[in-house]
Formats: sequence, structure tokens, C-alpha cells
Amino acid sequence: MKIVGVYQDMFEASLAKGRLEEAGIEACVLNEYIGSVIPYAPPQERELKLGVADEDYEAAIAVLGFPAEEEKGKVCPFCGSEHVVYGLKGPSRWKKIGAAVLAALTMSPLGNVRCHYFCEDCKREF
Ligand SMILES: [Zn+2]
Repeated sequence: MKIVGVYQDMFEASLAKGRLEEAGIEACVLNEYIGSVIPYAPPQERELKLGVADEDYEAAIAVLGFPAEEEKGKVCPFCGSEHVVYGLKGPSRWKKIGAAVLAALTMSPLGNVRCHYFCEDCKREF
């Protein structure tokens, strides 16, 4: 198993795991329960690590990508603005968070939670 990401909270870890599973990559969150088992553990010991099988490592990195690079040079296809962000910003942010929370509570896959590019000028997602 190889670690493809380290997250501070379960929400972010679940999102990343959901994206991998959408791409057909089996991933598991390590330390998933440590926060509730040891609530006063130091932060570095409560980090959530996302792991995949060795052979899926390259594919997983490709799916998760590197947000800093993804954002650079990205322009809005509707208005040409460079004020484009990647992630959960935008009009449906709370809907997605709601879906993620619901999925976490019901232990169901995060199939309908996706990240998008969002234009801060014309407020459209793509
Ligand atoms: Zn735009």
C-alpha cells in the first residue's frame, strides 16, 4: 500500500476517496477512527492518510492531481476570466457538503460529490 494523500479531516479524506472510487481505484482511509478513539491525540497523529494498492499509485496520483498546478493557467470557457478556482466553491457547495456528510453518516459511497472548476467572475461551474 502507498499513501497518496494526508488530510486533516474526514470530509476532505472522504472527498478524495470518493474521487478515486469513481475512477475505479480502491482506496482506504487510515486512522479513520483515531479521532474518536483518541480525541486528545496530537494533531499529527490524528491525520488521515489515504492509501491505495501499490499498482494503483500512479493512477491515483493522476486522479487526485496537484491542485496548485491544475489551477495555474486555467481560464473560464464562458467569459475567459482567469479567476477560476478548483474545488467545492460555487453555488452548490453546501449541497455537496450536505451530500458528503450524509454519505459519511450512512457509510455510502460519495458517487455524486464531485469537484468542479468555478469561475468567480461569471459564477459558472465547468
Ligand atoms: Zn467566467
